[in-house]
Amino acid sequence: MNWLGNITKRLFGRLAELSPSCKTVARLQSKALEHKLTLSQQWGLRIHLILCKWCNRYGKQIAFIQAVAQSHPDEVSMPVPEQLSEAARKRIQQKLRDHLKLSA
Ligand SMILES: [Zn+2]
Repeated sequence: MNWLGNITKRLFGRLAELSPSCKTVARLQSKALEHKLTLSQQWGLRIHLILCKWCNRYGKQIAFIQAVAQSHPDEVSMPVPEQLSEAARKRIQQKLRDHLKLSA
């Protein structure tokens, strides 16, 4: 069984050599949502995602965010208010006070 472990270890070592860095993969995953990647980028991305659960998870999260944004285009395009409303400001102040009381 040790030979199987050695082969697996060597295979993953070779795959890791072909795999781009996590930083590059993060950019590629964002780019892939809107543009077609080159064949080498696609392969590098696939190899990396086999090996890296964090980038795999990140890819799923940004795909989810994009899907939600596309399903609510009106809300995404709404302008963000520059200031909080008075009610929101009071709500936040109260939550902070409650939190400080609990942690004291
Ligand atoms: Zn990664």
